[in-house]
Amino acid sequence: PIVLGIESSCDETAAALVDGDRRVLAQRIASQDDHHAPYGGVVPEIAARAHAERLAPLVQAVLDDAGKELADCDAIAATAGPGLIGGVMVGLVTAKALAMASDVPLLAINHLEGHALSPRLADAKLDFPYALLLVSGGHCQILRVGGVGQYTRLATTIDDALGEAYDKTAKILGLGFPGGPAVEKLAREGDPHAVPLPRPLKGSAEPHFSFAGLKSAVMRAHQSGEHAAADIAASFQQAAVDCLIDRMTRALDTMEPVTALVVAGGVAANATVRGALEGLAEKNGLDFVAPPLALCTDNAAMIAWAGIERLPLGEFAPLDVSARPRWPLDPDAEAVRGAGV
Ligand code: ATP
Ligand code: MG
Ligand code: FE
Repeated sequence: PIVLGIESSCDETAAALVDGDRRVLAQRIASQDDHHAPYGGVVPEIAARAHAERLAPLVQAVLDDAGKELADCDAIAATAGPGLIGGVMVGLVTAKALAMASDVPLLAINHLEGHALSPRLADAKLDFPYALLLVSGGHCQILRVGGVGQYTRLATTIDDALGEAYDKTAKILGLGFPGGPAVEKLAREGDPHAVPLPRPLKGSAEPHFSFAGLKSAVMRAHQSGEHAAADIAASFQQAAVDCLIDRMTRALDTMEPVTALVVAGGVAANATVRGALEGLAEKNGLDFVAPPLALCTDNAAMIAWAGIERLPLGEFAPLDVSARPRWPLDPDAEAVRGAGV
């Protein structure tokens, strides 16, 4: 089968064609970094407008790249949430129009499921069940992935996501937007033990996360004028990774058995994060899987792949399906104490 994927939940406009043999037949991503950089963060209205201008030609370009037509597709998979609602609506409405015009069925994909299943696009050997650390711009969660649509959430952040903490740290240090890669780069030149920073929730029984206090400590360290920016960046990253490892260790203790430890989402592109998790997996006798960098940050190949994974279920979306600003992966998520999704 072939699925067309469409992604527009944040600030990347993306389309991709993926087949059942894990081949990415074509993909394009139009980043909006230049649009949002002057504001130091994503401006929802600007994002939605840019998606609207770019998406239709992008889809056509992807079909042309692969030498395919819409009619060659077995489904059109579009992100239907969670995310910035204006952008999600642009992607979903475009997908509906394409589906209607071509009689190809529509799949409404949860963006988080795209991230959660992306490691399986890259690695054919990755089987369910696996332990997943989903670390992105809006989420920081530990899930047990039992199968397609079978997500048990063990932990979430009670305040900021880790990607958000990276972005705020970049802003404090004047590194610009987007911040994650810039902080990682600067951290390579710093001493990770130079600045004493907190490890929020470290050692607590529930494996939840908290990064707001870390961000505030970064702000104080910067304002004190006592530390080089590179040392702050490196120490921030060390503190964050210590938290990830402590919380993941705790979650693995309480989780039903799994065969692999998997990381996904934008922050999974970070080499220090990947290295630390690989060590943890080894210690626990688990395989470690992290997608290639281009599959970590937002892209449409992961949405198309989630569509490929969902095709056998036959759960196609009606053409009046709604975009959802919030959409937890785990149906029991509201029962998890603490933060929202
Ligand atoms: P969500 O998936 O939760 O809806 P999103 O789609 O905005 O949020 P992603 O595109 O998955 O998020 O990830 C973007 C985040 O990843 C940003 O916060 C960015 O700073 C962070 N990030 C990207 N590359 C790196 C890196 N090398 N190191 C650390 N963080 C990174
Ligand atoms: Mg982005
Ligand atoms: Fe994302």
